[in-house]
Amino acid sequence: MTAPTFRFAPTFRFAPSPNGRLHLGHAWSVLLNADLARRWGGRLLLRIEDIDPGRSRPDLVSAIQDDLAWLGIAFDGTVLRQSERMPAYRSVLGGLAARSLAYPCFCSRSEVGAAARAAAGDGPLPRDPDGAPLYPGTCRILPEISVSARIARGEPHTWRLAMDRACAAAPGPSGFSTFAPDGTTGSVRADPARWGDSVIGRRDVPTSYHLAVVTDDAAQGITNVVRGADLLAATDLHALLQALLGLPGPRYHHHALLLDATGAKLAKSRGSQSLADLRAQGVEPESIRAQLGFS
Ligand code: GLU
Repeated sequence: MTAPTFRFAPTFRFAPSPNGRLHLGHAWSVLLNADLARRWGGRLLLRIEDIDPGRSRPDLVSAIQDDLAWLGIAFDGTVLRQSERMPAYRSVLGGLAARSLAYPCFCSRSEVGAAARAAAGDGPLPRDPDGAPLYPGTCRILPEISVSARIARGEPHTWRLAMDRACAAAPGPSGFSTFAPDGTTGSVRADPARWGDSVIGRRDVPTSYHLAVVTDDAAQGITNVVRGADLLAATDLHALLQALLGLPGPRYHHHALLLDATGAKLAKSRGSQSLADLRAQGVEPESIRAQLGFS
């Protein structure tokens, strides 16, 4: 395996959400990031993705950092916490709204489902790649005056990307660059329209995962993103946002997800064994590294 040559040192990141302890899938992802950063003379940054005030637990941030140190991962630079970046996200979202590329949506989750079913008629319910019903754009055509009045009244609302306008406004062909751990590179065509008018600003915070991830990958100078294949489809949307915002697109490597003995992907929500559990059972970090194929 030969290391590719870079004009600048590549910058990788590991970006856990502090809503549960890390499991073996996270260990594999961070070890792959760390291994490539070391072999390619790059840097590895830590970003805590804690935009969700309801699900993020501050105590888990230090627990995650403790697990990562135990695993032998050393990060460069300072830790970026997304909960401290709300003014930056508000300004990015405001910029998209000012260009009529984002609009406020007052629909509740059940109203979105009902509107999507009504729009589908007798046909199958169109869904986005995550399985959520595609929003038929009810609030996109609200008169300006009623939108302003509802916002002035403090009515809760999300912000949605106006997908057709966004695709028309994005310069150049839509796609993103990829790389593999053996240094080979490629490119992939993207089809962001399959996400429909996706939520880019939540009710409670002026961002969504998608908007925050592209804003921060650029702010942190990330050149190489290594993350699980469950985020491959979302990259179409990330590439579109990067094009709209004039941000550099990193190269992506989406790795396979680790499966448990039943063939299900490891997940905090399914109670997969955490690194903390393994550590409590006396498993050594060296054996986890070796089990996952890292020296
Ligand atoms: N915070 C995301 C997660 O924990 C990862 C996001 C990313 O790597 O882009 O699944």
